[in-house]
Amino acid sequence: MNNLSELVLENKKLIIRVDMNVPIVEGAIKDQTRILASIPTIKHSLDRGAKILLVSHLGRPSEGNPDVKFSLQPVVDSLKIILDEEVELVSELSDPLIFNSSARIQVMENIRFFKGEKSNSEELGKCLASLCDVYVFDAFGTSHREQASTHSAITHSNQACMGLLLQKEISALTKALNEYENPYTAVIGGAKVSTKLELIKNINEKADFVIVGGGIANTFIKAAGNEIGISLYEESMIDIAKELLDGGKIILPETVITSLSFEGEEVTVKNICDVGENEMILDQMLTRKMQDAINVSKTILWNGPLGVFENQLFETGTRDLSKAIASSIAFSIAGGGETISAINKFIKADDVSYCSTGGGAFLEFMEGKDLPSIQALKSKI
Ligand code: AMP
Repeated sequence: MNNLSELVLENKKLIIRVDMNVPIVEGAIKDQTRILASIPTIKHSLDRGAKILLVSHLGRPSEGNPDVKFSLQPVVDSLKIILDEEVELVSELSDPLIFNSSARIQVMENIRFFKGEKSNSEELGKCLASLCDVYVFDAFGTSHREQASTHSAITHSNQACMGLLLQKEISALTKALNEYENPYTAVIGGAKVSTKLELIKNINEKADFVIVGGGIANTFIKAAGNEIGISLYEESMIDIAKELLDGGKIILPETVITSLSFEGEEVTVKNICDVGENEMILDQMLTRKMQDAINVSKTILWNGPLGVFENQLFETGTRDLSKAIASSIAFSIAGGGETISAINKFIKADDVSYCSTGGGAFLEFMEGKDLPSIQALKSKI
């Protein structure tokens, strides 16, 4: 794959497909992480004399319906402040001002407003590709989606390359997927086994220890023959959980935090053997075995919380896990929206070797799948 850093960019017209799908409430951006993650690629390109058109999606507007709620205007306003220069929003692909304005940076309005984005239409892909000299793909968080701006535009471009963020993501994730050092601990938490089954299976082959958490742990606790009361779990995953338990790498919780309701009625700390029929497990304590696994590991992968950490009553497991990972000397990688929120809540992003900007893309990459945008970039050589 071509790297942005290898190309001569002087006077080149660049489309950079970024992932600036940030949370916006009443016009205000609640978390700028994704915008900030794209800045190195933008600055690198500007410093080398390129003109830039940024393309991103935001939320899930209905196609062909430019609803102001999903406009990229707040992103444009934020970019102006971060970069301290003019940033212009353009709304039409046929706008004569594209690459023809005094502004060095332009932002195309939400690409999901345009017909053909979601269906990966060739027409839209060709149209985007024809606007620029180089199509820079830097939207790792969207690289698992085969859409016009994430696939067809790359295929039809004169020249395409990876942006600096994509390069960093691929390098860090590859380290945990193929170039890892053992001992290796994987922490897989969150709500459902079914959404992470492929990840669990793939990582179970590589890791020495697999710590399960949240609703995922509940399914394993039940598969091991324990009462879990009214806890969240998946009956359809019990057999596969038993098989995985037989593999001997799964580390189950020993002490859990239960309640009579999700809101936190009668919160109790107890052994997993003592959970009552009317109780739900909403958090777990980090066990000695889990701590030891983290302490001896040279590689740690983390996706998903150990409990309902959004509620202070059920944050202990996720908080203590964050701190254990922060103090480890292992190469540690974390991904997924909830995991990154937990890191920002309990430790700092810098305490982990690499925090991925991907959710679905992170999972699919770590499952060992070829992501469509990366495949398209590879085919450009
Ligand atoms: P995921 O998106 O699969 O990573 O799941 C994250 C969500 O799982 C978070 O919003 C947690 O509140 C939730 N969660 C974690 N532990 C539990 C649990 N024991 N029971 C129900 N939900 C949980």
